[in-house]
Amino acid sequence: MREGTETLVRRELYSAPAYWIRSVDLSFDLDPIKTLVISRMQVEPNSAFAGHHEALRLDGEDITVTRVQVNGQSISFRLENGQLVLENLPSEPFQLEIRNTCSPEKNTRLNGLYTSGGGFFTQCEAQGFRRITFFLDRPDVMATFKVTLRANKQSYPVLLSNGNKVESGDLDHGRHYAVWVDPHPKPCYLFALVAANLVCREQRVVSRTGKDHLLQVYVRSGDLDKTEHAMQSLVAALIWDEARFGLSLDLERFMIVAVSDFNMGAMENKGLNIFNTKFVLANPATATDVDFGNVEAVVGHEYFHNWTGNRVTCRDWFQLSLKEGLTVYRDQEFTQDMAGSPSARAVKRIEDVRQLRQIQFAEDAGPMAHPVRPDSYQAIDNFYTSTVYEKGAEVVRMMATLVGRAGFARGMTLYFERFDGQAVTCDDFAQAISDANPDSALAPRLEAFKRWYAQSGTPRVQASGEYDADNRRYTLTLSQSCPATPGQSEKQPFVIPVALGLLDREGRALPMQFVGGPLASPTERLLVLEEASQSFTFINLDSAPVPSLLRGFSAPVILQAQASQDDLLTLLRHDSDAFNRWEAGQQLGLERLLAAVQADQNGEEPTLDAAFIDAMQALLRDESLDAAFRELLLTLPSESYVAERLVERGVAVDPQTIHRVRDAFRAQLAQALHADWAAVWDKHAQTGGYSPDAISSGRRALANLALANLVLDAARSGDTVWPGRAYQRCKDATNMTDRLGALSALVQAHAELAEPALARFHAQFQGEALVIDKWFTLQATAPESNGRVFARVKALAQHPDFSVKNPNRARSLLMALTQNPAAFHRADAAGYVFWAEKVIEIDAINRQLAARLARGLDRWRTLAEPQRGAAQEALQRVAAKPDLSADVREIVSRALAA
Ligand SMILES: [Zn+2]
Repeated sequence: MREGTETLVRRELYSAPAYWIRSVDLSFDLDPIKTLVISRMQVEPNSAFAGHHEALRLDGEDITVTRVQVNGQSISFRLENGQLVLENLPSEPFQLEIRNTCSPEKNTRLNGLYTSGGGFFTQCEAQGFRRITFFLDRPDVMATFKVTLRANKQSYPVLLSNGNKVESGDLDHGRHYAVWVDPHPKPCYLFALVAANLVCREQRVVSRTGKDHLLQVYVRSGDLDKTEHAMQSLVAALIWDEARFGLSLDLERFMIVAVSDFNMGAMENKGLNIFNTKFVLANPATATDVDFGNVEAVVGHEYFHNWTGNRVTCRDWFQLSLKEGLTVYRDQEFTQDMAGSPSARAVKRIEDVRQLRQIQFAEDAGPMAHPVRPDSYQAIDNFYTSTVYEKGAEVVRMMATLVGRAGFARGMTLYFERFDGQAVTCDDFAQAISDANPDSALAPRLEAFKRWYAQSGTPRVQASGEYDADNRRYTLTLSQSCPATPGQSEKQPFVIPVALGLLDREGRALPMQFVGGPLASPTERLLVLEEASQSFTFINLDSAPVPSLLRGFSAPVILQAQASQDDLLTLLRHDSDAFNRWEAGQQLGLERLLAAVQADQNGEEPTLDAAFIDAMQALLRDESLDAAFRELLLTLPSESYVAERLVERGVAVDPQTIHRVRDAFRAQLAQALHADWAAVWDKHAQTGGYSPDAISSGRRALANLALANLVLDAARSGDTVWPGRAYQRCKDATNMTDRLGALSALVQAHAELAEPALARFHAQFQGEALVIDKWFTLQATAPESNGRVFARVKALAQHPDFSVKNPNRARSLLMALTQNPAAFHRADAAGYVFWAEKVIEIDAINRQLAARLARGLDRWRTLAEPQRGAAQEALQRVAAKPDLSADVREIVSRALAA
């Protein structure tokens, strides 16, 4: 694709390639200015095209071809729309050799072969390989790779590629070389090379198959003390995948390499995973509990891709969720299993769902709404979305729910039996899970279930119950609908698993007996809603029950139940399902936030009622609950979540009002529960030696929330003791979670001590890039107050440590601003003007990063005036830029389209 061309690629137009590339022998003479690439390929005409004389069209981008040979003879070629076109080729398999050059140093897009911190790194998914050499850059063309790397030995002592190192040695002029062979055929998006000055942590493990494996984590020399957790996570992932799914490592050597300039989180290149430093490096002094958790999840995720992604890959990029939805599901299950206790598992589930609802639900309601398996795209990089990843994982989770845990494991086994070594589709996966479980709840409704892959939008489930005292029956009616989304005005019913329990008024779980069912009935049932509306009747109930619906968030839907305050309080106090307990508390908070936002228009002060405060107090005091769970219970729904619920009620969003109301509620909870927060602090502030386990990290999270409340309340009362304590903790803390928590308490409350604490923190961690990222984010995400947060962000954009060239740093300030609604959505439009400038500035350097930032105004249509009009103008200003990348153009034109 040429720069700026906007071709719509459609799923329905898929056709197999006219040629296969069976093996490729690549050689690199690495030089930052001009790298020479020689590619020798064994090419085979696709027999399905026999009789035709198809031209071979190889993808290429920003590279220069110098010679093309077929079976050793130079041939003529032409370049057409960026593709290298070869005609009159042999009808038998032949050898194709291409010489070309590329310029890694100029590659600021970080896609293809690029330089970072004096080393060479690659990123090829989705279409970066074509920026290295000409190839059939599509996932269904799989080849074995042999790679020879040559480079200056002193500058690049480590030379890595996929597979196993078979040869290495010295060359003239201070250069050296290494030869790597990967025996597993793979699509080119899984190719990787690294040439850099790195050190590594190593460990040998023996897998269940009895094979010996070498695990390595490569980092810059100063970072070796931050690799232990990544290595432990890798070993844990290896053991987990064998135990849970019987999947063993198929490589002698498995490498992880950390790089600080990286667009994504990490990349599962066969045997040579390349990671954003953010998801590798962790030690207690520089990383928080959240970072430790993320490292574990991402290391697991990329490792699990070796089977779900690499051994079985995607036929085309529309099938991206085949590997991503499934692998996110696997990493979520892994981290839940690692968390241990049922309560810790529930905490993890709540965190995942909170993320899904905040980001994916908003995506599903906006201009970028697309099915889990999209139908078309202009820039595939724009479809590495929460829908493909997180909603895709929910679709897999629903299948697992419908066939059961053992059934899902059987389905996975069949999936690999059928498709190992192939490039397949989402349909193939669903079929395998179903076929392995013919008697399950999935098999008879598989076709309808697959609508989850095809239809975009978040389904609504309405629930209403009716108790018939005379017959001691309770009838629950569930109905579903799904709003129109771009290109999809009508939706067919989804297959929605609804996990259900019934409680009596005292909170006891009730047996759930159907008419004609056995007397001894379970206290939890899985209902399957598959029609527009269905009723379920339960018998032998002495009083109207309180339904606990959608336990564990059994489907990615918006539940619209008419639960009374009493019902919600009963669930909050007693539900045996931890997710629904939390959800009841969120619901109670949400309703108050929504009512107060609407009352604000009449000039009413937002005030929390005693019933809510009492309920929160009881939970905070309840020592039988895990600290992590209490931290979640005591946190009000986010501003963006409140905004989306207002949109559902047809109310235009004023981010300033939502912010004011939520802040007022936070201040009231801080004041009313002051003594309780202080007690919690006393009990949990000292957590002893650092360990990132679920119990300790939960205690730290609750202590940090307590401190934030106490410092916030000090801003009201004029107390100086708590800000002083926070400042002291910021100085003395022995781990980053406590230190950042204390700093955050000061910054969030706009305490006077925030400034010296920020300055001290910055001085202390200069040179620790990931910590300085946190320093930027903390300031950009502080609660807005009279425009000072936005002013701070603008000033920080001029800070000597700030650069838009490093994606982590750019995200730490700019993406953080767009996620701070009151700071970003200003009445004077200054937030949008700044945003438009930055999108345009970054687009010239790194289009993927710019496109992510461009999504900050996806939901502009939901805003009240004057923000709505101002946001539209800002989008139009970006869209008017003639040389915009296809990536950013797709985002802004979708946003502006009706
Ligand atoms: Zn992935």
